[in-house]
Amino acid sequence: METGLDGTNLEGLTIAEARSAVADGRISATALVEQHYERITAVDGPSGQGINSYLALSRERALAQAARIDSMVAAGETLPPLAGVPVAIKDVLAMQGAPATAGSKILAGYRPPYDATAVRKLEAAGAVLLGKLNCDEFAMGSSNENSAYGPVRNPRALDRVPGGSSGGSAAAVAADLCVASLGTDTGGSVRQPAAFCGVVGVLPTYGRVSRYGLIAFASSLDRVGPLTKTVEDAAILLEVLAGEDPCDATSSDRPVGSYLSGLNQSIAGLRVGVPAEYFGDGLDPEIRAAVERAIEGLRAAGCAIHPVTLPHTRYAIPTYYVLATAEASSNLSRFDGVRFGLRAESATTLSSMFRETRDEGFGPEVKRRILLGTYALSSGYYDAYYRKAQQVRTLLTQDFLKAFAEVDVLVGPMTPTPPFKLGEKTDDPVAMYLADIYSVAASLAGLPAISVPCSETAAGLPIGVQIMGRHFDEATMLRVAAAVEQQRKLQQSTAQ
Ligand code: GLN
Repeated sequence: METGLDGTNLEGLTIAEARSAVADGRISATALVEQHYERITAVDGPSGQGINSYLALSRERALAQAARIDSMVAAGETLPPLAGVPVAIKDVLAMQGAPATAGSKILAGYRPPYDATAVRKLEAAGAVLLGKLNCDEFAMGSSNENSAYGPVRNPRALDRVPGGSSGGSAAAVAADLCVASLGTDTGGSVRQPAAFCGVVGVLPTYGRVSRYGLIAFASSLDRVGPLTKTVEDAAILLEVLAGEDPCDATSSDRPVGSYLSGLNQSIAGLRVGVPAEYFGDGLDPEIRAAVERAIEGLRAAGCAIHPVTLPHTRYAIPTYYVLATAEASSNLSRFDGVRFGLRAESATTLSSMFRETRDEGFGPEVKRRILLGTYALSSGYYDAYYRKAQQVRTLLTQDFLKAFAEVDVLVGPMTPTPPFKLGEKTDDPVAMYLADIYSVAASLAGLPAISVPCSETAAGLPIGVQIMGRHFDEATMLRVAAAVEQQRKLQQSTAQ
C-alpha cells in the first residue's frame, strides 16, 4: 500500500514503508515522529477516542534519534534496518530516564538508569522510541483493566477491551499511534491482545530475546515480543531483537535465523497439526469457523493437515496460575518502599513502612496473586501445588514434543471469544483466567507462537489464529503466518 505521508495518513504504515519513505527522502524521520505525536494527541487522550495507550512520551529522545537518522540520510550513509521507524515500548521495560511504572502505583516516580537490551537493540537499529505504553499492573491480566492508570480501549470497538496485559502495545499499533511496539508475554500477553486488536503478535522461543531490563513477573515464563501490523514487520523486528545477551543468563547462544528471507518461501509439503483440544466447548462459533477456513487455506496451499492431540491441555490454566503466581510472589517482594517508587509516608516503623507501601501501592489483582503464590509455595502446600504444577508442566511440554515429532507447526484459535466488553469480566477473576485457555500451554512449554489476524466476526471484531512452532523454529512459524495473512488479503480483495 502506498501511504500518503502528508501529515494525515499513517494508516496501516508498516516498517518497510516507513523506512523506505525516510531513506528516499519522501519524509524526514523528524516529520514522521511529529506526525505520530500529533496523532497521539488527537486520538489517544480523553478529547479524542480515549484509547489511553500511552503512559509517557519520550519526545526529547525520539527527536534526537530522528535528527541523527536525518543527518545519516543527508550524508548518504548506509541506513540501519529500522532507520526512522517510530516504535513504542510496554511500560514494563526499562528506558533510561523515562518513567517505568509497570502499570502500578508502587512504581510511581521510578525512572530506570539504564535501557533494557531489547530497547537498546531497537534504537541501535535506527528505531525512534516514542514512549511507554499502558499495560495491566505488573503484566497480570487479560484485559488491561488492571492498570493503575486506567483501562485501554480497543481501537476496533471502543466499548471493548484491547486484551492484556500488553493492551497498550496492541492498541497503539492498531490505532496507528506507532508503527510497531514491544510487549511481553508470560501467558499470552502479546498474542491475546494482538488477536483482540487485529494486529500481529509474536511470542519468541524462551531464551530467544533478552529480558535484561524487564520488570519480572514470572521469570520462567516471561518473554519479550513484537507487535506489528504485518508478519513481515514481525520478522524484521524479531531479527533485530533476537540473540544472546551476556546480561541475561537465560538468553540462548543459538545462531539467529534470517526470518525475513524465508518468509515468502512456499509452504507446500509442510505438516500442520490441528490439536483437537483447541476446538472444544466454549469456543465461539464464528472463531471456530474462521480458524477452520484458515486451516483449509493452508491445505489448499499444499500443507498436509494432521489431527493431533495434546491430552494435558486442560491442566494448562491451573498449572500456569500456580507457577506464575508463585514466581510473582517472590519477584514482587523487591517492591517495599526502600528501593523503587512509592513509599508510604505515614508509616512510623520499618515494618509498617513495608506493609503500608505494599498495601497502598499494589492493586487488588496483584495482591490476589501474591497471596495465591505465597500459599502455593508455603510449607505443607508446596508439594501439593508448586511441585505438582512443575510436574504437570513437564507433561504439557511432552505433549508438544510428541506432536512436533509428526508435524512442523500447530494451528488453532488464539482466543475462545472475540474481545469482550469493558467491565464484563472484572468481577470474576476465574472467567478472566479462562480467557487464556489457548495461550498458556505454549508459554509453559517455552515454544514460539504467533497470533495473526485471519478474519473478523459479523460485528466486525478481529479474529486471530495462533501458529505454534518448534523450539527456535520461528522461521517456519512465520512462514505459515505469512501464508495465512496472504490468504486473508486475497479474500478481502475478492470480497470488495
Ligand atoms: N493473562 C495472563 C495473566 O494474567 C497472562 C499475562 C501475561 O502474559 N503477562 O497472567
